Amino acid sequence: MGRVSSLADLPIRDDLRGLKPYGAPELKVAVALNVNENTHPIPENVARSIIEAVAHELLTVNRYPDREFLALRDSLANYLGHGLTRDNVWAANGSNEVLQQILQAFGGPGRSVLGFPPTYSMHSIIAAGTGTEWLAGERDADYVISPATAVDWVKRTEPDLVFLCAPNNPTGTALSLETIEAVYDATGGIVVVDEAYAEFGVEGEETALSLLPGRERLIVTRTMSKAFAFAGARLGYLAADPAISDALRLVRLPYHLSSLTQAAAVAALAHTPEMLAMVDDIKSQRDRIEVTLRELGYTPYPSASNFILFGNVPDSHRLFEQLLERDIIIRDLGIAHHLRVSAGTRAETTTFLEAMRELTAR
Ligand code: PMP
Repeated sequence: MGRVSSLADLPIRDDLRGLKPYGAPELKVAVALNVNENTHPIPENVARSIIEAVAHELLTVNRYPDREFLALRDSLANYLGHGLTRDNVWAANGSNEVLQQILQAFGGPGRSVLGFPPTYSMHSIIAAGTGTEWLAGERDADYVISPATAVDWVKRTEPDLVFLCAPNNPTGTALSLETIEAVYDATGGIVVVDEAYAEFGVEGEETALSLLPGRERLIVTRTMSKAFAFAGARLGYLAADPAISDALRLVRLPYHLSSLTQAAAVAALAHTPEMLAMVDDIKSQRDRIEVTLRELGYTPYPSASNFILFGNVPDSHRLFEQLLERDIIIRDLGIAHHLRVSAGTRAETTTFLEAMRELTAR
């Protein structure tokens, strides 16, 4: 059946009228550096053991999966360390779904969430989807958020939740633990630290996981999409006080994590060293991008993630299109004179940087 009406004709919720869905273009190009994926495929031996685990699970796929995904929560807690156990861990189909469940439980109509744009676009989109008011704070120079600035915004807006993104997408900016602690102390609400890119940070640097003891309103979200090269499998998770999972059980759909997803993720986590082997290489490609873009006269921002935001682009839309003509896609986020690029494999990164050299006539 063809299309008989447009969205505007449907009796959609008033608060969704006129909104735009998540819109990263899904183009088939040779060099895709636009959605911060891990550009390295998972190692073949790991793929084989995941296939075996999934195949085994298929034999009982007539039954609903473990609703409490206990084996997976054990594996995730073991990976995170910090004295965490399965009771501290929750998971869903991507950290987007984790964030959605958090807003379903703690946000919703009449409630608000404070974020600090430019930040991950889904934070405000999930807020809209759950009927939670999105309050936009502001950052200091170079996209940093100081404790004082963060506390000022919390005091002025009195949100029910605060979303912090560490490191921040799309800017790559790290976030100090002091800012997180200050936000926590300034609010009686839920504080979510989105650590989707944590594994790409400076080695040995503390994550917000170290702040969890004694802070029952703090939630740290993570994903296997980035460092674990598992974006297609859809597995995000959180660490928090066990009471947080009790809240999320009220809003999640029963059996939300398929038995195949659970088996695949457990098998992947059993190969953590191999799965994370590419992280160092990705970091070195990211650093190469930073150095070369600076040489070319752009202004890359310091990044603790697998991508780089760079400014001083005379015409960002044109440069985006010129790269696309060369079968390379990066990200135009609508920040004037800025573009974002994900670190690729060595070869992809070289292709991108060579194109940038050619296109930069200064
Ligand atoms: N948080 C941030 C900051 C992200 O950039 C992304 C993905 N781009 C996500 C969460 C969601 O990742 P996923 O749903 O794949 O876990």
